[in-house]
Amino acid sequence: MIPFIDLKRELTEIGDEIAPALLRVAERGWFLLGEETESFEEEFAAYIGTRHAVAVNSGSDALFLTLQALGIQAGDEVITVSHTFISTVDAVIRNGATPVFVDIDPETYCVDAAQIEARITDKTKLILPVHLYGHPAEMDAILAVATRHGLRVIEDACQAHGARYRGRKVGRFGAAACFSFYPTKNLGAYGDGGIVVTDDADLAARLRMARNYGQRRKYYHEFVGINSRLDEIQAAVLRVKLKHLDRWNARRRAIARNYDEGLQGSTLVLPHERPYAESMYHLYVVRCAERDRLQQQLLERGVHTQIHYPVPVHRQAAYAQLARDPSLPVTERVCGEILSLPMHPFLHDDEIEAILTAVKECL
Ligand SMILES: *Cc1c(COP(=O)(O)O)cnc(C)c1O
Repeated sequence: MIPFIDLKRELTEIGDEIAPALLRVAERGWFLLGEETESFEEEFAAYIGTRHAVAVNSGSDALFLTLQALGIQAGDEVITVSHTFISTVDAVIRNGATPVFVDIDPETYCVDAAQIEARITDKTKLILPVHLYGHPAEMDAILAVATRHGLRVIEDACQAHGARYRGRKVGRFGAAACFSFYPTKNLGAYGDGGIVVTDDADLAARLRMARNYGQRRKYYHEFVGINSRLDEIQAAVLRVKLKHLDRWNARRRAIARNYDEGLQGSTLVLPHERPYAESMYHLYVVRCAERDRLQQQLLERGVHTQIHYPVPVHRQAAYAQLARDPSLPVTERVCGEILSLPMHPFLHDDEIEAILTAVKECL
């Protein structure tokens, strides 16, 4: 049996570092907004290459609070994709704004930048691209259209810790970028967590207040904020794991190469990495015309796969009010064909071989 992911396995590598980190926090007896969070924010900002990082409770809150801090509100339109995890779009809706969907590129599964301009109106305020599956969105073209129209760009980098576009890490292209530390992400906590990175000191200061009830000074509330803090235990875990991230990402890329080679010449559509982009393969997603049959037959052979995502956002019941008109043919086609194979840095070579054998038998 090969599970889709097995988070326990990392303990064989880092257990010796995790245990003292957890104990350190318990012994200090300071559990929120303390030195672990502060140090982690500095270390993560340095890792991405931004001046500031503000840690919050989740990637979803990172997105929500960033859009809120930029003044996104009712009447505004935000350009994004429907082929993403729901919370990209929730962040827009929860701020009262309207998401405007652009179709995706069938090779990278990220926004088709050439189609953005046609969807811009005088209400458009922001472009919110997603670096989906760990592959960077087409940032040059996105920034060019944003500049032409005076729009801001916020990166949803929740799946792309360490991914590079033209040699630069994602997270440095927009006004800010949001990362998630959901346990299965390339950098995952032992619970929920997220962070916003930015070079904008004012935005960072506002986010620090927004995550903590709008207060700068305890019990003095300058605006209505929320409770959204990364806790010290998670920050301590993330500090340990950040030191291993590049090595784990390299392992993900090596596994992707193994899959690529093993599946070359099959009927599957394989992930496509642009020559100037480095995906960190949060997911390894193939496409198959008979996806459901393939998934079932792999399961019968003990190989667990998943679908990211089976229903695009504009087809979700929660978003029924948006179902009007969107012409998103690529989004609608690929969601019936995509299949995510097991992908995590602790996958063994013999498991990769077994997965490849199973896939070829099923095809
Ligand atoms: C995981 C994810 C989020 C949300 O992050 P959480 O930490 O789970 O709230 C947002 N966008 C994308 C693309 C994600 O993959």
